Amino acid sequence: MKVLVCGGAGYIGSNMTAVLAQNGHEPIVYDNLSKGHRAAVHGVKFVHGDLSNFELLLRTMREHRIEAVMHFAAFIEVGESVSQPLRYYRNNLANALTVLEAMENAGVDKFVFSSTAAVYGMPDVGLITEETPKNPINPYGDSKWDVERICQFQCRTRRLRYAALRYFNACGAGQDGKLGEDHTPESHLIPLVIYAAMGKRADIKIFGTDYPTSDGTCIRDYIHVEDLCSAHLLGLKALDSTNEVVCNLGIGKGYSVRQVIDTVKKVSGKDVKVVEDQRRAGDPPVLTADSSKAMRELGWKPKYTSLEGIIETAWKWHNSHPDGYED
Ligand code: UDP
Repeated sequence: MKVLVCGGAGYIGSNMTAVLAQNGHEPIVYDNLSKGHRAAVHGVKFVHGDLSNFELLLRTMREHRIEAVMHFAAFIEVGESVSQPLRYYRNNLANALTVLEAMENAGVDKFVFSSTAAVYGMPDVGLITEETPKNPINPYGDSKWDVERICQFQCRTRRLRYAALRYFNACGAGQDGKLGEDHTPESHLIPLVIYAAMGKRADIKIFGTDYPTSDGTCIRDYIHVEDLCSAHLLGLKALDSTNEVVCNLGIGKGYSVRQVIDTVKKVSGKDVKVVEDQRRAGDPPVLTADSSKAMRELGWKPKYTSLEGIIETAWKWHNSHPDGYED
């Protein structure tokens, strides 16, 4: 299938592009390189374009006879979304709408959308199912939920089939440690602890040690980027026979911030200076996924079920790219 990968030069999009090509699909990357890296895209067609450019999107879809769109191009910083909501709604909502409009005009009806656990807000449950109420508490999660709702209604017109995949904490490096995480600025826990272990930063701050969890720090469900990609492939395939797929993607096991730090220390063999800091605004104490729906309905099975295995791949990538991608 010819798949337009919006945001295909980013962390998850570049991994997906490689996996699509390896599975007999023809990915075409569309990216403005505002966050992504040209060096993360190998051996596939690349269109340097902005998602606000309806004409270019439409032309690209028509010229390349695109059959499906995977949409990874979004801003991802929760804190930034709170301080700059308009920027987030412009990119994550308005630009996604432009993609959907171009798809409708070009007659492309398959859409795989990167959604997020942030649509659930602060859920008061152990494992989160797809039915858990959606109460996003920041513009990041809200903009993703808006796009899901637009897809729901557009799907009812029969002009769209979509898969909304709600990621928990994406991490690790794919393609045998060749495609890793390189955000500027970096805000995610695993790369930041690795930077501390590599001596690229002085310490790692724990944002809150008084949460109602076993060791007082937040618990998250860390899922390897390759497992996200395998779920996308299955989601795309499912759209041959179904109109709507909505699934959580996590491994169903939570790790605390302290456990993540200890695991990086173990994998790297380095010590890391830890500073206990204030809570970060908008952090729910626990976010863990019930992903049984993806397993049942898509036949998905995560390959990486231990945090150590995930961190080993990230450690390998960061050590082979100490300054990140070259461009
Ligand atoms: N965190 C932390 N120190 C950091 C970065 C993150 O303690 O320097 C915590 C954060 O508060 C959250 C967890 O690590 O509880 C995972 O945060 P991350 O930003 O990686 O992902 P999020 O859960 O926000 O999507």
